[in-house]
Amino acid sequence: MPLPYPDPRVALATLHGKADALAPALAALGLQIETVAIDTDALGTFAGDIERPGTAHEVVIEKARRGMAASGLKLGIATEGSFGPDPLLGFLPLHTELLTFVDDIHGQTVVIEHAGHDTNWVSKALRPGDDLQPVLAAIGLPGHAALVKPNRWALPASEPLPVAKGLIDAAAVAEAVERMAARSDDGLARLEADMRAHVNPTRLAALARLGQRLAERLATPCPRCSAPGFGRIDAQLGLPCELCGEATDLVRAEIHACGVCGHRENRPRADGLSVADAGHCPECNP
Ligand SMILES: [Zn+2]
Ligand SMILES: [Zn+2]
Repeated sequence: MPLPYPDPRVALATLHGKADALAPALAALGLQIETVAIDTDALGTFAGDIERPGTAHEVVIEKARRGMAASGLKLGIATEGSFGPDPLLGFLPLHTELLTFVDDIHGQTVVIEHAGHDTNWVSKALRPGDDLQPVLAAIGLPGHAALVKPNRWALPASEPLPVAKGLIDAAAVAEAVERMAARSDDGLARLEADMRAHVNPTRLAALARLGQRLAERLATPCPRCSAPGFGRIDAQLGLPCELCGEATDLVRAEIHACGVCGHRENRPRADGLSVADAGHCPECNP
């Protein structure tokens, strides 16, 4: 069912081909993505050559706003991904991604968050001549691209970090490892997966699922004012232990809210779980 927007065009500021991943879910709501070709690299890059100038939440909204300003549209979307080792399970790579929908017609900003291990992110320091094959296999060349930079770069901030991006050929990676190692303070090069969406089908697939969740959220009207976009904004912890009833750190209820009128509702967990396994209990399993 089409959403109540007089102009269905949504600005997406990107150089990195995210529109194909996000467009189908939004098209089902009658919304059309208009790609605005502005360079958002000034708001930070995965390669680390430009640092992000704020929190992921601030930056993703700023990206959407820049697309809207450049196009004159009243709707905008943007994404902001982060990759690194999982802070809890150090051996697994973690992908977190925010997708925002800024709506100046109703006056609201919706942010959907993804966190998962469904990523090819890997980062390894290597010496020229090292066997690159295990890392290249983890990255998924040639379907996914790699990037190479100096492992330690101690020059002043005025000198940009050199990064070879978008490499899909093993020989080109080996050559870049040699070149970047020679420019590194410790003689090592850092080989990583290139996380830019247009060279990373795994990230594109995650973006498509995020787009689907945004579409579901926008298709949910507020029960009070019927603005689109009613949904989960937070959670209440304290799911009771199955044995003793003590509050655990697990989610007890989801908090759903409207970004337009402020209406809030507490709802049970989407998975129907009403008690926590005693393994999570501070009393039964301290
Ligand atoms: Zn207990
Ligand atoms: Zn409302």
